[in-house]
Amino acid sequence: SLLNCRPFKRTASSNLALSAKHCYNIKVTSNIKNIEIENEKLKQLYSAKSDIVSISSHQIRTSLSALKWIIKMFLDGDLGKLTIEQENLMKKAYESNDRALNTVSELLIMNKSENILEKKYVFSKINILELIESTIFDLSGEAHNKKVEIIFLKPEIKIYEVNVDKEKMRIALQNLLDNAIKYSNTDSKVFVTLKKTNDMLQVSVKDTGIIISEESKNKIFKKFYRAPEAENKEMIGSGIGLFTTKKIIEGNGGKIWFESLENDGTTFFFTIPILKNK
Ligand code: ADP
Repeated sequence: SLLNCRPFKRTASSNLALSAKHCYNIKVTSNIKNIEIENEKLKQLYSAKSDIVSISSHQIRTSLSALKWIIKMFLDGDLGKLTIEQENLMKKAYESNDRALNTVSELLIMNKSENILEKKYVFSKINILELIESTIFDLSGEAHNKKVEIIFLKPEIKIYEVNVDKEKMRIALQNLLDNAIKYSNTDSKVFVTLKKTNDMLQVSVKDTGIIISEESKNKIFKKFYRAPEAENKEMIGSGIGLFTTKKIIEGNGGKIWFESLENDGTTFFFTIPILKNK
């Protein structure tokens, strides 16, 4: 009769519910712990994978670079005159080696891009003008090889200070400049501008090379996307640069977009908030 008593039933069922809830909480807590442990293991594996890719790519690149200069010595006739047949074969070897070098370089960029997004943002006060200048300097060799001149149209304004993650911003700028050189025609110019728009600084990178077709326009920032016009030209790439760049710019409080017009070329723009004096 006690068991059938209503208040007892209610207490018993709520006790049951409470202990079920308690069990459930313990289970969820232990599941979360397991996920955290697995996550930690995955992070370690991921970092080990990145290190392996980076170390082996660097080693392969060093060997390929050495090979490149040896083949070049043969082609330049430093080791004696070659027969036509020898020269043709050496030219083929040189081109093939160059393609392998580009692929390895892309692999390194891809690995670096993935790693950079894994890292937390570390904001600091920097001078954006100096960062642009030093990034242009870093890419001057690449530009020179393709006979592309990078022209930095410096602004009249005196506000260059921004609060950004410098290492990530450098990667974003490198990606845009690297693309502008890569997708440019030889013997052309790339223009970089910096200007103030409201509370933002706006940077643009313009080239006169291949354009981005209408079909590709809304996919260009997607991970691994490469427009057919770039792939058809056999330009080496991974489709990760713009994906990374967009994440970096947005992570720094800015926006990124582009314009691509026939007979004019492609311009990428991005903004970043100006550091306000307190
Ligand atoms: P990747 O250059 O390695 O292919 P990105 O993510 O940097 O990868 O760029 C994605 C795609 O966007 C490129 O494959 C290319 O089709 C297009 N693209 C990027 N920058 C330019 C540019 N400056 N001019 C023309 N097309 C570009």
